[in-house]
Amino acid sequence: VVQLGMPTRTVKTTCAYCGVGCSFNAELRGDELVRMVPDKEGGANEGHACVKGRFAFGYATHPDRVLSPMIRESITDEWREVDWETAIGYVATRMREIQARHGVGAIGGITSSRCTNEDVYVVQKMVRTAFGNNNVDTCARVCHSPTGYGLKQTFGESAGTQDFRSVAKADVIVVIGANPTDGHPVFASRMKRRLREGAKLVVIDPRRIDLVRSPHVEAEYHLPLAPGTNVAMVNALGHVVVTEDLVDREFVAARCEDFDAWARFIARPEHSPEAAEEITGVPAADIRAAARLYARAGNAAIYYGLGVTEHSQGSTMVMGMANLAMATGNIGRDGVGVNPLRGQNNVQGSCDMGSFPHELPGYRHVSDDAVRQVFENLWGSTLAPQPGLRIPNMFDSALEGSFRGLYVQGEDIAQSDPNTSHVYAALRSLDLLVVQDLFLNETAQLAHVFLPGTSFLEKDGTFTNAERRINRVRPVMAPATGKHEWQIPCEIAQAMGYDMSYDDPSQIMDEIAVLTPTFAGVSFAKLDRLGSVQWPCNDAAPEGTPIMHVAEFVRGRGRFVVTAFVPTTERATRRYPLILTTGRILSQYNVGAQTRRTPNVFWHAEDVLEIHPHDAEVRGISEGDEVTITSRTGETVLRAVISDRMPTGVVYTTFHYPLSGANVVTTENSDWATNCPEYKVTAVQVTPGAQS
Ligand code: SF4
Repeated sequence: VVQLGMPTRTVKTTCAYCGVGCSFNAELRGDELVRMVPDKEGGANEGHACVKGRFAFGYATHPDRVLSPMIRESITDEWREVDWETAIGYVATRMREIQARHGVGAIGGITSSRCTNEDVYVVQKMVRTAFGNNNVDTCARVCHSPTGYGLKQTFGESAGTQDFRSVAKADVIVVIGANPTDGHPVFASRMKRRLREGAKLVVIDPRRIDLVRSPHVEAEYHLPLAPGTNVAMVNALGHVVVTEDLVDREFVAARCEDFDAWARFIARPEHSPEAAEEITGVPAADIRAAARLYARAGNAAIYYGLGVTEHSQGSTMVMGMANLAMATGNIGRDGVGVNPLRGQNNVQGSCDMGSFPHELPGYRHVSDDAVRQVFENLWGSTLAPQPGLRIPNMFDSALEGSFRGLYVQGEDIAQSDPNTSHVYAALRSLDLLVVQDLFLNETAQLAHVFLPGTSFLEKDGTFTNAERRINRVRPVMAPATGKHEWQIPCEIAQAMGYDMSYDDPSQIMDEIAVLTPTFAGVSFAKLDRLGSVQWPCNDAAPEGTPIMHVAEFVRGRGRFVVTAFVPTTERATRRYPLILTTGRILSQYNVGAQTRRTPNVFWHAEDVLEIHPHDAEVRGISEGDEVTITSRTGETVLRAVISDRMPTGVVYTTFHYPLSGANVVTTENSDWATNCPEYKVTAVQVTPGAQS
């Protein structure tokens, strides 16, 4: 990092990388950002930060940024720079032409979990008013949509139960399908502090992540289950709780419903640890011991990540963990709970803001007449009562010819979504693809209109982190593009004939507060006064709600849900004998658009394939060799890293680089409830050499 002299001013803002949501003081000399200093008063980070937040901000001023709108009639044409008025008029005209030819539902939009709540809110509002349909979805579709579904079904709210501070009171911490030291480093430090104080750790993950054994921290149990068997595992844990009489009967009787049906189901022999051993490959004795440790703890907390959600049974697994927490009374106080570690900085917020095709802001269903009426009155527009298309349905409908125009806000779907060749075919088939982003990313290579977006250093608004904490994002510099990102959808809507305008993003938050009961008490003024608040923030909780479901669940009684294990259809076979699973590393962030444009690139310059020594040896693969990974959907070439962090039969990679990473080979399988892709289970063959 460059420290170019004493700062002349400081702006307090929020990191734009992961869902921890660390607060920083951006120190400037004149107009130049010289360093990012973690804020001691930050509610999420208390003065700590990781390498990405501290050092990886150079992308904001990287020469690759596109600063002017651009248009081209065909994706084989050269881009043509135009002014904002021309670009916005062009988008509005083309979108209306498509609707005239193919119907109101032929266009839609995708919001970004990297943009502010205010940026996201205006995109979903543009789709619902100016576009006149509910074809809006979010990149959370491909990460934590099962969290939203599963926690709503069981607890009544689509969000994690605790604040980060709560981990300091946990006696037992269960980490499932998450790698906090790489994905959520500042929260991982808090967790490790508690573990060093004596809390016990259980890790449920196919890979031996750093937490399993690191300086001064060692997991009591590591359950390295086979990818795709989470539900069998959580059912076995529940089986031990029920059959060994470890249930918190007082809590269940007072607070929950449908327990008896679940208990009868879970007590069946097919859910025993012995049965689960056959499915998961984890010794039954370890499953029993881990279940006893969790159930007998004074306070036991579950933290989980995409290793839970990105499966064909992602939603089932979320509900399975909720069952476990309710059965043992581990909900509603410090040190307990079911806590998603959200990937992107504003993935919670993008969901809260009504980015799903079936839900208006605040997770209210579009088919609810009374709810729709409230929005219609304020927005002055009639809203469609039918849910719109999800992202994978948009792709399918594009290939069928009925979906023709797409607006993509700050998301590289061509790189991040599964089965790359299918995604490319769908995007290529569109009559109009509009990309709003910082860089000409992989998706923009297929676009007709490019609308330059702003980095977090230019934004004015809010992000909501994984603990529901709404943090202010304050502008460190003026928008290099000459336009705030929230203004773009407003102007497109206006050009399409719907009056949408705000003077300032605080007005957008004021509107959100009027329309969203959990945000009713939120305003920029309050955030400036308190630093941050955790929603629900309203008359009942004017300063926010660190822990949810304290006296009762949001839905009244917590609901047990029967969680039958249904194996994924993606199986290892003679032709594809290995299972590929995916993750991320500390120095990179998602598709790498930002971190690849910072000095971090020197630490991790490519995606690699981790392969067990036995699996490498039988294939004649040595450390550093190029290998070809082939699945039923595609083929890619990566460099091999021999590692016993994976069990035999399982290989692992990341997805930070375009056109080489995991999504070239991942399948179209997805969660039964939400269509979240099954990124974590792909049957592959690995062969030496670059064959493609
Ligand atoms: Fe940013 Fe996450 Fe690192 Fe905090 S932990 S500095 S939010 S990337």
